[in-house]
Amino acid sequence: MKIDVLTLFPEMFDGVFGASILGKAKEKGIVSLEAINFRAYSGNKHNTVDDYPYGGGGGMVLKPEPVFAAVEDLKIDENVRPRVILMCPQGSQFTQQKAEELAKEQHLVLICGHYEGYDERIREHLVTDELSIGDYVLTGGEVPAMVVIDSVVRLLQGVLGNETSAVTDSYSTGLLEHPHYTRPAEFRGWGVPDVLISGHHANIEVWRREQSLLRTLQRRPDLLKQAELTDKERKWLAAKKRQETHNQGE
Ligand code: SAM
Repeated sequence: MKIDVLTLFPEMFDGVFGASILGKAKEKGIVSLEAINFRAYSGNKHNTVDDYPYGGGGGMVLKPEPVFAAVEDLKIDENVRPRVILMCPQGSQFTQQKAEELAKEQHLVLICGHYEGYDERIREHLVTDELSIGDYVLTGGEVPAMVVIDSVVRLLQGVLGNETSAVTDSYSTGLLEHPHYTRPAEFRGWGVPDVLISGHHANIEVWRREQSLLRTLQRRPDLLKQAELTDKERKWLAAKKRQETHNQGE
């Protein structure tokens, strides 16, 4: 996969692209990651990329020319249509499902805004997607772009050591993941559930599934509406819910 990020602060990506799982994915040639400064495409001698908003008001607006020129100068394989993604708090909410969808693409281009906003023509005529990482406003699109890139790259084949770990992650299964424990079996008097040290794999799987259902019920009950559950699991959850409501009433 090829990922190009258009930004005014390419140096912000040095650490993120070079370290940990992303750094290794790059080293293994699974992904090419590049941060491009679109100020280089300003087309004017002062390297200006922003201007005052028409109609007045506070804040500066990113001009269309440098952003269009930077995208048009990217090396794009003629058989590939890149997804051109605008990082934007007004975009659709970034989710694990979206990460899975983007992980199937061959070329992603992420545009990081700054200042008050973008010239609307970038939104209307250049991008294929607008993504928000949450209902809050950051100073720029760099951190949101890092969030998207990290969550997409870890899904690419060969990136994570254990191929199954992304499959069982929270949200990938439609549920929150079960709790984890490691050695020591006792720490400051707190133990580990017996089943996990029983060596009985079938029982461990049952326990993990139940814990995952329970955790989702307690923390994100909204996810259960869409989750793929058996009738038995739905009944089990309904009983747990009744029990919890009863306990709260006591
Ligand atoms: N005035 C804009 C508005 O109200 O929608 C906010 C601009 S924000 C200060 C500057 C840039 O940060 C945005 O253009 C976008 O690239 C990025 N940004 C801020 N919050 C974001 C979020 N929640 N998700 C994605 N990008 C965000």
